[in-house]
Amino acid sequence: MKAIVLREFGGPDVLRYEEIERPVPHRGEVLVKVKAVSVNHVDIWVRSGLTAYGTKLPHVPGCDISGEVFEVAPDVKDWKPGDKVLVDPGIRDLKCEFCLTGRNNICDHFGIIGAAAWGGYAEYAKVNADNLLRIPRDMDFETAAAFPLTFMTAWHMLAGRACVTAGETVLVIAGGSGIGVAAIQIARLHGAKVIATAGGKEKTLKAADLGADYVIDHKSEDICQRVMDITRNRGVDVVFEHVGPATFGKSLRSLRKGGRLVTCGATTGPEVAMDLRYVFSRQLDIMGSIMGTRQELLRITELFAEKKLEAVIDQSFPLEEARRAHEKMEKSAHFGKLLLVPQA
Ligand SMILES: [Zn+2]
Repeated sequence: MKAIVLREFGGPDVLRYEEIERPVPHRGEVLVKVKAVSVNHVDIWVRSGLTAYGTKLPHVPGCDISGEVFEVAPDVKDWKPGDKVLVDPGIRDLKCEFCLTGRNNICDHFGIIGAAAWGGYAEYAKVNADNLLRIPRDMDFETAAAFPLTFMTAWHMLAGRACVTAGETVLVIAGGSGIGVAAIQIARLHGAKVIATAGGKEKTLKAADLGADYVIDHKSEDICQRVMDITRNRGVDVVFEHVGPATFGKSLRSLRKGGRLVTCGATTGPEVAMDLRYVFSRQLDIMGSIMGTRQELLRITELFAEKKLEAVIDQSFPLEEARRAHEKMEKSAHFGKLLLVPQA
């Protein structure tokens, strides 16, 4: 089969399109014929060789997969060739203390498909049958690959961790990113008012189209100043943060007293400085969040089927052009999701 294979870690040029042997599904596994796979920031970390994900070379990245079941191991009874599926990107044992208490995104054996195991930048992907979800009727493969990771992550941050409620104000940092697009919609769905940031005129207009009540152009405006203008010097209830050092200080200062900051990422680096006196005297909550639970993915899939959430796809590339897709993401030249589509 054709696949994008990492044989070394590094820049986008290590994404090589190669012919490799098609995997064979063993006990509990299925082979999915990949119809679409989306590009996520985690793919960039994996490609760069960030050790936290436990990636071993050679490796095939890609965690957001949709396609058709092609082959099943003999013990797999619930799926058959031709079934249209999307893949839960989370590897969970479903039996540890955390899994048994509904927190399977912090499973003791948690991993991400395409990071800890081979993923979907290929014509075929071998995954555990437990990770399959049926694609709702009327949903195309590109949509089915565009939403799982980002929407599950944004949902867990806003609903699972920050517990956003109707009438609150949420500041969504980088509203044009894949996860920002999800956050704007999810915050709105919970009845919150949304202030989003985006870079440049075109992205600010798109963020407003998606439902953001206010959009701050972070290239030409001061985020904190604008937040204070909009909230009449009160600050926001919740900040949705995933960028790290480039925005973290502004995010903290945009919070009202007693506000919550929830973060799932560090795209501009892992370390930030903060004045602890500011955090405790204003009684701020800083929350970490990682991906989301299987239950949350099921809920989101239903909401997509009901058209209450929508995928925003920036561009689809042929699989062999994975390098171009990574370059576009690293330049933040996209609004919404970038997808890779293997040739039929
Ligand atoms: Zn577990």
